[in-house]
Amino acid sequence: MRSLILFAAAPLALALASHAMAQQTLPSAAPSTAQVGGQAPGYFRFFVGRFEVTALLDGTHPFPSDKVAVGATEDQVAATLKDDFLPLRYEGMINAFLVNMDGRLVLIDTGAGNLYGKDGGGLKRAIAAAGYTPDQVDDVFITHLHEDHAGGLVLDGQPVFSKAIIHIPRKEADFWLDNRNQATVNDLLKPFFPAVQKVVLPYQQSGRVKLFDEGAALVPGLTPIAAPGHTPGHTVYLLQDGGQSLLFWGDTVHMAPVQFPDPNVAIRYDWNVPMAVAAREKLIAQAASEKWLVAGAHISFPGVGHIRRTGADRFEWVPLNYTLNRTQP
Ligand SMILES: [Zn+2]
Repeated sequence: MRSLILFAAAPLALALASHAMAQQTLPSAAPSTAQVGGQAPGYFRFFVGRFEVTALLDGTHPFPSDKVAVGATEDQVAATLKDDFLPLRYEGMINAFLVNMDGRLVLIDTGAGNLYGKDGGGLKRAIAAAGYTPDQVDDVFITHLHEDHAGGLVLDGQPVFSKAIIHIPRKEADFWLDNRNQATVNDLLKPFFPAVQKVVLPYQQSGRVKLFDEGAALVPGLTPIAAPGHTPGHTVYLLQDGGQSLLFWGDTVHMAPVQFPDPNVAIRYDWNVPMAVAAREKLIAQAASEKWLVAGAHISFPGVGHIRRTGADRFEWVPLNYTLNRTQP
């Protein structure tokens, strides 16, 4: 044993000596390579059965979790985020999802377009990076008419999708496209009315907005499920093929590090907090027990993963493993 230790010490001495030499021989000129910055194009691709799914990043923005949490104090939110090595104003995502269903190109939500300033509006670029064009999109399915989900219908004053039908839950359209409802919401939500109406308008004018009722059949393999609470007509979409399932759940979760361990925490952007909490608890528990893949608009990009139950009303997020190849969830 003793001889082994002596043997091991020799390379260490050598390494220290060469380290000292390296320090003496550093070039005297200052290094001049500028930092490049930026990130890889914002898309991530995987498969659900034979359907190709592409997660798209519209942008990121500092999420004011300290100011918008309902049902937890700022200190509680801060402590939970610290457990995940995150500051109070951590970077929030704006994700959308493109699905190629046997040649039919379907988009779930559109990102924020210009409605979040420079923090959003990357969807068009992400679609192009992923090898498609917005002109190819056949159908856009909206989970709810908030700025960061419908705003990307228009970019720089121009409608983004030249042929797509925009499918909106009827209850959602009835609420946000009617200004009489503006008086019933808090001040955070009031500006959503004019902003969202403006981006839906060009599609209404060209006859390409289609409203659907709860329980309606849309595209074979994509089932809408009403999940009201965050908004009156908030709708999630279940994609199924070959025994595999992926739930596009819109804004069921805004602050993953906070709301998976405690689904009772809500957010001031919720239209009806008790209903939003009930919808979240139901969908989280269902996705966990069914072992569905989940795609979230505000979960760290690509926002795709599974949910594991860790207690009576506690859960954790398990991100999908990265792959360059076909992933069978
Ligand atoms: Zn929302």
